[in-house]
Amino acid sequence: MAIRDKKREPTRTGLVAAHALIEGRYEAFAQAIAQGALAGLQSHAQARQRSEILRACYDGATQPLKELKQAIRDAQPKRLLKYCPMCGTTLPGTFDHYMPAVRFPEFSVHPLNLVPCCAKCNSTKDADWLSAAGKRQFLHAYADQVPDLQFVTVTLHEDQAFDGVGATFSLQRPAGLDDDLWELIDSHFRRLKLIGRYDERGNDEVAEILSNCRTFLDAGGQKVRAFLSGRAEDQRTVYGRNHWIAVLMDAMAQHPNFVAWVHAA
Ligand SMILES: [Zn+2]
Repeated sequence: MAIRDKKREPTRTGLVAAHALIEGRYEAFAQAIAQGALAGLQSHAQARQRSEILRACYDGATQPLKELKQAIRDAQPKRLLKYCPMCGTTLPGTFDHYMPAVRFPEFSVHPLNLVPCCAKCNSTKDADWLSAAGKRQFLHAYADQVPDLQFVTVTLHEDQAFDGVGATFSLQRPAGLDDDLWELIDSHFRRLKLIGRYDERGNDEVAEILSNCRTFLDAGGQKVRAFLSGRAEDQRTVYGRNHWIAVLMDAMAQHPNFVAWVHAA
């Protein structure tokens, strides 16, 4: 309502008139999330007819909208926002409308429909949230509970020619994950090309981790393996078991040649 009241006429009057409709739709959205049935939430004809005024809530940079965006950021633990929740690789500088604003203009400023994410993920997902078969294609950062099972893995290889260590990521289905959730995770990773994006960053990240470990040793630190295991644990606690950097740190800390790599770094 604070956003509405900053709008000019006739948008404001239109939003007042649509108030009951929006409330009903917010209720339907909350129920769909609670029941894990987001994919079944249908676009609403009356809302689409009012698309222009409903989307106007997001399109103009009003003070209440700025405050809403800030409140969404503030609601997350600080460190979480170091990475886009869709890819885990870069800062989330934009907001994704999980339910696309074209189909669901009534959720254009719903806090659970505004997911901080990076520009690359945002533009890749765009309005493309359902597959032709009516299944969701992307994980929702708040609504989807991903179980604590490992599905991102990495293989390390010592690169003789370049005298360095390389990392190749892959996605592997763990035991105990049901078909629907696996299909969603697999689709999320494929559509956003996440494994390729991790591979691209892998070598630089390996070099940075080794350099940090080297700094630790140079400062008189002991037990560099335990040091890196601890950092992996920390990363996992904040970003989840499948965050690519946590996976990478763990694999490095367990590699037989790890200590030699640190000394060579
Ligand atoms: Zn991203």
